[in-house]
Amino acid sequence: MAELIFLEPVFKEVIWGGDALHTRFGYDIPGDHTGECWAVSGHKNGDCRIRGGLWDGCTLGQLWKEHRELFGGEEGDQFPILIKLIDARQDLSIQVHPDDVYAREHENGSLGKTECWYILDCEPGTEIIIGHNASCKEELKQMIDEGRWKELLRTHPIHRGDFFQIEPGTIHAIKGGTLLIETQQSSDVTYRVYDYGRLQDGKPRPLHLKQSLDVITCPSSVKDSLREVEETEDYRLEKLVECAYYGVEHLTLHGTASRRTPALYEMVGVLDGEGAVGKTAVKKGDFFLIPWGYGDYELRGEMELMIARPGKI
Ligand code: ZN
Repeated sequence: MAELIFLEPVFKEVIWGGDALHTRFGYDIPGDHTGECWAVSGHKNGDCRIRGGLWDGCTLGQLWKEHRELFGGEEGDQFPILIKLIDARQDLSIQVHPDDVYAREHENGSLGKTECWYILDCEPGTEIIIGHNASCKEELKQMIDEGRWKELLRTHPIHRGDFFQIEPGTIHAIKGGTLLIETQQSSDVTYRVYDYGRLQDGKPRPLHLKQSLDVITCPSSVKDSLREVEETEDYRLEKLVECAYYGVEHLTLHGTASRRTPALYEMVGVLDGEGAVGKTAVKKGDFFLIPWGYGDYELRGEMELMIARPGKI
C-alpha cells in the first residue's frame, strides 16, 4: 500500500522577508528575513527532502526521476509544481513572468510561470499589484521609462481568503504585510521591472526591462477565479482554480471529509490546526504528497488545508 510522502521545506532569505514562517507556522527558519518557504519543490534551486518512511532522505526531484510510478507516470523532465509560503514584511519588486514558449527559448529550456495566490493573512489596508493601465506597448514603455508607477500599476485591496490567478505576462507585486500561499509552475524565472530603488549588499538588484517589455500583456487582462463551494456540516471545500498547470482547493475541516483517489497524485499542506489522513497524524506546517495508487482517503480533525494537483496538459 502506498504511503504519504512528507516533505522538508527549503527556506529562502531575501531583503523583503520577515519571521512569520517561524511565529505562525513554527518552522525553524534561518533568520529574520526569511521570505519564502518552498514547501513542495523538486526544483534544482531548492529541492525538498523526504522526511521519514520508505523514501527518507531522498529529494522530490530524485523521486520524480527514479520513481515516476509514484506520480502515475506523468510526463515531463522536472516535477511540475512548486508550492511556497511567502512572508512579505516589505514590498516585493514589481515583476512579471514569461510563458513556456518564451522561457524555453530565452531561459535554457526553463518552464514559464503561471502562479496563484491565496491570502493567509495581511495587515489592515494592505494592497496587491496586479495588471497595469497602459493601452499599448509604446505607452507601457514610456510610462516605465518616466517612472510613472502610481499611474501605471493597478492596486487592489486584499483580505484573508482572497485568491488571485496570475497568468504569465501579468505585471504584479506582493506588498509588505502579506502572508500567502502560492501554487505555481516549477520555475524560478522572474523579470524584475522595478525594485523601488532598493539596495541589497550595497547594490541594486538587477532589472530585466527588455524581457519585461517582451512578455507583459497589453492591454492587461485579469480573469475571475472559479470559487465553487461545496459545504457540509463537517467541511467547506472551495475550488479556487483549475488551469492547464494545476488545480487548487482550500478546505476548512471540522470533522471528516472523504476524498476520492487522485487521478495522478495530490499535494496537501496543513495551514492550521491538526488531525489525520487515514491513520497518519498531521499538523500545521506539514506538507505531503498523496502518491499515485494511495486510493480513496479520509481527512479528519480541525484543520485548514490547501490541496493541489497537477493540471491537465
Ligand atoms: Zn511572481
